[in-house]
Formats: sequence, structure tokens, C-alpha cells
Amino acid sequence: MAYFDNNSTTRPFPEVLDAVRSASDSLWANPSSPHRVGSQVRVRLEQAREEIGHSMGVDPAGLTFTSGATESNNAVLGWLANRKSLSGETALVSRIEHPSVLETARHLFANRIEYIPVNQDGLVEMGKVEELCKQKRPTIVSLLAAHNETGVLQPWKEVAQLCQEYGIWFHCDATQWMGKLDPQGFDLCSSFSFSAHKFGGPKGVGGMFSHEPVSWILGGGQEKEQRGGTENLPAIEGMRIAWRQTCNKLPIKQDVVAWKENFESQIQQDLPGVRIIGEKVARLWNTSFLMLPDFDNLGWVCKLDKLGYSLSTGSACSTARKEASELAGAIGLSYENGGRLLRVSSWLNTNELEWTNLAGALVQAHAELVEDRDQSGVVTL
Ligand code: PMP
Repeated sequence: MAYFDNNSTTRPFPEVLDAVRSASDSLWANPSSPHRVGSQVRVRLEQAREEIGHSMGVDPAGLTFTSGATESNNAVLGWLANRKSLSGETALVSRIEHPSVLETARHLFANRIEYIPVNQDGLVEMGKVEELCKQKRPTIVSLLAAHNETGVLQPWKEVAQLCQEYGIWFHCDATQWMGKLDPQGFDLCSSFSFSAHKFGGPKGVGGMFSHEPVSWILGGGQEKEQRGGTENLPAIEGMRIAWRQTCNKLPIKQDVVAWKENFESQIQQDLPGVRIIGEKVARLWNTSFLMLPDFDNLGWVCKLDKLGYSLSTGSACSTARKEASELAGAIGLSYENGGRLLRVSSWLNTNELEWTNLAGALVQAHAELVEDRDQSGVVTL
């Protein structure tokens, strides 16, 4: 199978599997225990914090290990919503945030939420953010760094600087950025989140960086009193190795970037009517979000699966739900067009031949879908 669903999750590096197995075998003691085996685990935990924090360009003391970006996003929003000094204030969030930000903000801030709109490329415009910051004076602004479906890179650095000027907390969901692009610059944000399984690490582990202590899980005082619960050292160790492996492979070479570009040109030539969302704006080197000329996207996913290609219709979280993706509405697509979106996402282990063959597979899938329709006589989207 050629795997093109890396924005949903990546295959763990073999070195990560080894690191998790070995840490589970030898570093299983509780890092909070006072004896020597416990202390050895604590040392490794702090080494992981130092290594990951430094290579992300932030003070490791501000890095907290979590179960992943969903938890980190919930933590920041929950902590801010509960701060008594800020009660009654507004949250300004982009329309295209991941549900772990959007749903959380809706739940916590209810009618005190304001949205940053996006244009038809799925890009937040700085002018709008500035206007809304002036008008609404929010407590928090939340904008993701790179979008999980379109791959469109957002002006998070500019928004971070603007928020510093206005004295507003800026949270950045950096989940899709980390492991694909240069991790420097996030120190400008008040807080940011990431997940290890998006860069070849284990699932259920990630982190949150914050300039101020954000405490959200009460318990035994682990993680600098911010997140109670015994730390999962084997998973954290796996994340450290995944992060190191990934950093060694970045930045991405121009010829790898060209594989996706060639795929996009090929598919536009071979399948007239395909639209590439965000085509004209800066996007992640690994992501193509296609709006197909006809047939619903689940039909495409099934055909491609049979042909040996794993792709998804968009965010893995939204496939389980029946509603159209939030993003489709935000970029002005009709319900029907929202049902024709297909996400292609490669990663460091994808090769040129897989990209080239994918274009051919899409053409074949289309031909088979046409044949099925002609045989069944049923009119599809
Ligand atoms: N934010 C973004 C942008 C994501 O793509 C994801 C994963 N789909 C998350 C947050 C949540 O990550 P996790 O499921 O690892 O908590």
C-alpha cells in the first residue's frame, strides 16, 4: 500500500519502536519515586524536555508533556477561560481551527467567541485579525500554524507579534507544522501545542509550551504542578527519538517539494475540473487538498484503497462524523462540493514513484467510478 494519509498519522520510525521497547523494559520506575531507579527515569524525562525544548527554540522549563495536541489545546483554553481576572472576555479563534480548539472554545466561551474568517484559499488575512483585535479586545487569539486539511500556512508569526503589541495571549496549534517545517520562531507565541505521532513518534504523547505555567490536571503535582498523572516515559522517549530523527531530515530538499508539484500539474491535466484548494498560496510541502470534478469523496477513497492507496477525505476526526467539514463552509464551498474533497498527504518516507503512480491511480479510480455509474444507472454527485 502507498500511504498518503500522513496528516492523520505517520508511521513510527523503527528507532522509535526500539526506544519505546527499551525504555519500557529498563525505565519503567515512577519518575517521582525517591530511589535510584526512579531518579534514573526522572533524569531521562528531564533530558527529553531539554532536548526537545532547545531544538524547538524555547526554554525547556516551559515545556509540559501531555497526551497530545488535543489535551494541550484544551488545557490552554480551559485555563484561560477559568482565570477569574479574565472572566467575561472574548476568545478570537479562526474559523478553520482543529475541533480540539474550535469545539473547546465554543464550549468554554459560548457566546463570547468571535471568529477570524478565511478567504477562499483557506488563508487568514492579517488585516482582518488586526481589525478584530482592535474592535473586540479578546483575551486570547488562537490560530493554527498549518492547516491539517489544506496544508495552507497561516500568518502565525505576524499574529503572534500583533498579540504581543496588544498584550493578548496568542495560542498556536503547531501540530501540522512540527516535523515538516523549521520549528524556530514559536517562542513568539504565548503557548503552542504539538503531537508526536505527526512526526514519526508514538500516539498519545505530545506537548504544550507556555511562557506562563498553565495548570489543568490536579493530582500528584507532576509536570511542575501543571499536569497531574505519572509521566509516560517510554512514550516520551519515543517522541524524543522521533523528533531527533525528523530534525535530521529537515529542511526538505527542493526535489521532494517538486514531487508534489508535479503530481498536481499531472492531475490537473489528466482529470479536467480538479481544483486544488489553496493552490496559489504557501502550503505544506506534503499536502494537496483536491476538489474532485464528480462523485462523492468516500467513493474515491474506496476505489483508491482497492488500487493500493490510502487517502482520506479530510481530517481523520471528521470522517467519523457525518457533517461536512467546517473548512468547506469556511472557504465558501457548497454542501455538494464539500463532499468532493480528498486529502493527499505524504511524509518523509514517501518516494517519487508513489507520487507519480498516485496520479495514474486517480485517473483509473475515476474511470471505474464512471463505469460503475453507467452500469447502475444511479445519478451520483
Ligand atoms: N491539531 C491539529 C491541527 C491536528 O491535525 C490534530 C490531529 N488531527 C490535532 C490538533 C489533535 O492531535 P491529537 O489527535 O494527537 O491529539
